[in-house]
This record gives sequence, structure tokens and C-alpha cells, in this order.
Amino acid sequence: MYIVQIASECAPVIKAGGLGDVVYGLSRELEIRGNCVEIILPKYDCMRYDHIWGLHEAYQELWVPWYGAAIHCSVYCGWVHGRVCFFIEPHSQDNFFDRGCYYGCDDDNMRFAFFNKAALEFLLQSNKRPDIIHCHDWQTGLVPVMLFEIYKYHGMENQRVCYTIHNFKHQGIAGVDTLWATGLNQEAYYFDYDRLRDNFNPFALNYMKGGIVYSNAVTTVSPHHAWEAHYTEVGCGLSHTLHLHQDKFRGLLNGIDYDFWNPEVDRYIPHHYTPDTLDIKAKNKQALRERLLLRETDKPIVAYIGRLDTQKGVHLVHHAIYYALEKGAQFVLLGSATESRINAHFWHEKSFLNENPDCHLELGFNEELSHLIYAGSDMMVVPSNYEPCGLTQMISLKYGTVPIVRSVGGLVNTIFDRDYDENTPPEKRNGYMFHHTDFHALESAMDRAIGLWYNSPKAFRQLALQGMEYDYSWNNPGGNYLAIYDCIRAT
Ligand code: ADP
Repeated sequence: MYIVQIASECAPVIKAGGLGDVVYGLSRELEIRGNCVEIILPKYDCMRYDHIWGLHEAYQELWVPWYGAAIHCSVYCGWVHGRVCFFIEPHSQDNFFDRGCYYGCDDDNMRFAFFNKAALEFLLQSNKRPDIIHCHDWQTGLVPVMLFEIYKYHGMENQRVCYTIHNFKHQGIAGVDTLWATGLNQEAYYFDYDRLRDNFNPFALNYMKGGIVYSNAVTTVSPHHAWEAHYTEVGCGLSHTLHLHQDKFRGLLNGIDYDFWNPEVDRYIPHHYTPDTLDIKAKNKQALRERLLLRETDKPIVAYIGRLDTQKGVHLVHHAIYYALEKGAQFVLLGSATESRINAHFWHEKSFLNENPDCHLELGFNEELSHLIYAGSDMMVVPSNYEPCGLTQMISLKYGTVPIVRSVGGLVNTIFDRDYDENTPPEKRNGYMFHHTDFHALESAMDRAIGLWYNSPKAFRQLALQGMEYDYSWNNPGGNYLAIYDCIRAT
């Protein structure tokens, strides 16, 4: 099968969060299974060019219709750890992708509407006719809309679209300008509740809604999150649209790329280990302490890695730091915040805790350090308010780091409480779970984890080993996505 992924991220060259990991990992798995996969991305100025091999200009004359005129683009091709990627570079005064950031600009709607148009135009003009176009999140929600409303009539009538929603919170809310810019035009037609009109703001278009309405199959990234999106506020206003399209909507758990996230081969950690040599993990703990100037002492390390965002339960992250210290643990945090209020808060905490030999807060994005933290910590807290799938808990399991998670989204599908999960046999349980968003709930789960570490080291080690036994690779999800592709190709 010939599959083209159109996305705003692909790890490690462009990564703001889990989306990048998924685009890379899924593509790799699909290729291993004998499919041809290509990935189309924006050519951002700030991406990690050091992770691209053989970057060269593949198409010089891509003219993309825009506001009744056309913008000249170049398309670059290169290999990102074995995956073929095409990077679109527009030459216009808008400088859509030369902003020193991936997201967060006032005109993000226009930037990604343009990217969608350019990606389709590239497929059309270069005569690429994939069996499947796989799009991700609001940034590519207009691809199926334009494919089935415009490009279908220019020789792209056989393409089928799978649309994956990684986060319902950001939907791409835009005004009528999008229609004029992209050539969709027909205001009355698209401002219809059955098409792109936002369910709550009658004056706005909703890209993600367009993605749901027009795609042949829609997925989100875990079965429990699919249920939440249907029936709770987590659907962020799209529950009704999902109900209308429920026959094509499913939750599929993400996977982890075990070539990249694997303590046996991880090139960013100093000491490799397997379940049979778990004791070597202690050397990584020592290396982590040396790197972050934590004191060498007989205490567990509790970690947090992730965006510092209300989604991630920052009030609980903050509390976890002080509670861990109070309970005789060390704490390591690696996180970045885009919201200035949250950013300022954690910088304040960092300076307050600066001299504490049991705590280190690293604010920013640091891929290399994240690997050492997974390998060197004993526990990982994931206290999210909502979590579509969550990769950090799955990565932690692989590194023998025991997750302490809140019972939302994909965390429910992947973590099984050591003490209370009656549906899972004791030898299959792999972490700790709490339910409410108050401090007390988090504390009780942390108490149990830290208590086990101190009082029953053997039992704690056994729990870590049970986590390492889980297979959250792309093997299962890869097969599931292929089944969906097969199904929509037959329509
Ligand atoms: P989300 O996609 O909501 O950000 P996920 O748990 O799905 O969260 O994926 C997070 C990914 O990003 C993981 O691979 C995690 O290790 C990585 N990550 C998050 N924050 C950082 C950071 N500050 N530095 C390095 N890696 C990070």
C-alpha cells in the first residue's frame, strides 16, 4: 500500500510532543510491514536539521493557489532516520514557517491552511496518488475537505483519508478568510453545521470538525479517550459531531518506537540494561544525579517529563515535587511551558529550590536528557487532567520506571494499579493510579509507591519488571491502522 502522512510534526526532526513520535513511529512500522510511506511536513526554520540526511531540493516549481493568485514553493526531500520526508517551503512575504517556532503565532490558522493546500497541490503536481492519506490533528483538518471538494475533480478521486485526533483541545477555529484563501469559497455551503461551522461559535469555521466530517475514517489515540470524547467534556464541543459520525470513529492506542525508546540500545544513556540486568539501572540513576548535581543518597527518584500545561495537571505536578521531598524522595522535572503564567511559576519554583540537593527542575525541551531521566528514575508521575493517550507512562514502563498516573484517557488503557486493579491479575499489574484531581488522591498513590520502594524493595523491583514485560510497541497499533486503511480502501 502507498501511504502519505501529512502532519505538522515528525520526531525527532520536528517534535513539540507526542504527535511527532506517533507520526515517525507509525510510519516506520508501516514500512516494516512492506508498505511505501512518505511524510509531508512544513519546512520550519527551527527544526532539527541535524536529524535530516541528504536534504535536497526535489521540486522547484510548486505554485500553490492562494487568494486567487499563487505562492511559489520549493519542496525539499530528505531522510529522517530512514523515513522519506518532503518539506514544503513557501516563498512569500508571509514567511509562514520561518517564525522560530512551530505553533503559537497569531496566524496559525492561515499557516496550516496554506500547508494543507500546498501538500495537496504537491501530490497533484508531482503525480503522487497514494492509496491512503493519513492526516493528524487540527493542523491538517482541511486536507480531506479540500481533497473531496476540489482535488477529487482534478484526478484525485481514488484517495482515501484516515484522520487521527491527538488532542481535541486545539481545533483550528478560523474565520471566512480561510475559504477565500484556499479556494473553497462558497461561504454559505461551508458555514453549515453539517460541514465546517463550529458547533458553538456560529461565526467560525472549525478545521478539526472538517476533518471529522470529510474523512473516511477518524481515530483518536486510545479507546478510553474515544469514549471520553463521545460522552464527556473532553470532546471540547465535538461530541455531537462524533455521534453523527460514530460509525467511522474509533480509539486506537499509540505505540512506542522500541528502537528509540529502549534501555537495551538507547544511545543517550550511559549504561544499557534489560529486564535480566535491571540492577544496571542504578548506574543510570547515579549518572542522572551527577548530571543534575543531586546528592548521592539512598532515596528513590520521582520524575515528571512533559509539557507544563493545564492539560497535564500542573497544580498536581507542583504538589508532587513538595510531597516527594517531604516523603523522603528526590524529584526531577523536565518540562516546558508555553503559557507565560505557568512558565513564570515554574521559574520561580526553580530558583526557590535551586540549592536543594534532592531536587532539580530543568525548564525547556531536552530530548537527550529525557532519556537519562527515564532510565535513571524510579517513578514517573503523570497527573494529567486529561490525556488522550500519553507516551510518558509507556516509555517509563519500558525503562523499569514505575508510573503513578491519573485515571484518564490512555492512562486507563495502559496502567493497572498494583493494589486495586481487580480486573488485572497481580502479576500483570504495572503501576499506581488515582482518580480525583485533589492533592489527597495524588498523595495516596505516591505514598503507596514510595512506601513500597522503602519497605519492600523486592516487591518494587518486581513491579518494575512486570512493567518492562508489557509490549507497547507499534506492532499492535500498526496492524490496527492497516486494517482501517484496508477497510476504507474498499469503500
Ligand atoms: P503530549 O503529546 O500531550 O505532549 P505525550 O505523553 O503523548 O504528551 O508525549 C510526550 C512526548 O514528549 C514524550 O516523548 C516525552 O518524553 C516528550 N517530552 C515532553 N516534554 C519534554 C521535554 N521538556 N523535553 C524532552 N522531551 C519531552
